Amino acid sequence: MDDTARIAANLREIRARIAAAAREVDRNPDDVTLVAVAKTHPAEAVAAALAAGQTVFGENRVQEAQAKYPALQRAHPALRLHLIGPLQTNKVKDAVALFDAIETVDREKLARALAGEMQRQNRRPQLFVQVNIGEEPQKAGIAPREADAFIALCRDALGLSVAGLMCIPPADRQPAPYFALLREIAQRNALAGLSMGMSGDYESAIRLGATLVRVGTAIFGTREAPAG
Ligand SMILES: *Cc1c(COP(=O)(O)O)cnc(C)c1O
Repeated sequence: MDDTARIAANLREIRARIAAAAREVDRNPDDVTLVAVAKTHPAEAVAAALAAGQTVFGENRVQEAQAKYPALQRAHPALRLHLIGPLQTNKVKDAVALFDAIETVDREKLARALAGEMQRQNRRPQLFVQVNIGEEPQKAGIAPREADAFIALCRDALGLSVAGLMCIPPADRQPAPYFALLREIAQRNALAGLSMGMSGDYESAIRLGATLVRVGTAIFGTREAPAG
């Protein structure tokens, strides 16, 4: 099988698994968006996924995305691009111009910079607050106990519309309790969006309420080097 056929086959299988996991808990499979994480893979891999009907993509680096997507965005107006990696404030302008969703709002300085830049560009990418759900020192995200206050700051003080929450659970633990905790924080803040679940655990995340799953390896294959 060549790369294009392999990517199409992987997407078919993952969509079937997403639908099955959703039905298991009486959810509508249409309420789960598959974000195809193409980081480190070339624009040709994204084009192959687009040809197989995939429209939502995730990237973790602004610069890599700037090199890969503008031509694809012009050719495929339905393409939606999500930033799923850390965002430095000096890249906010580029990120607001390029991305349709920013899933990694994780500190006040960034939220303020986004509010200003969204106003200047009159562009409104969807915003997700990243929660450091396992309270891991090396990971980005708002601590769970600080999430309510941070969401309120984004909404009330900065006038931002928050679409939901995003998390990356600790790699070496069962993810389900962390998914459940993220859902609890979302529910008490009346947030509908839950971005959780990756190649190894997206079905569990869907059973616990994920509305977005971010899947890379299972679609595009293994990456050469870890990319955050
Ligand atoms: C790379 C990445 C993913 C995808 O991980 P896979 O295990 O390859 O599916 C999901 N979310 C984030 C934030 C990532 O950086």
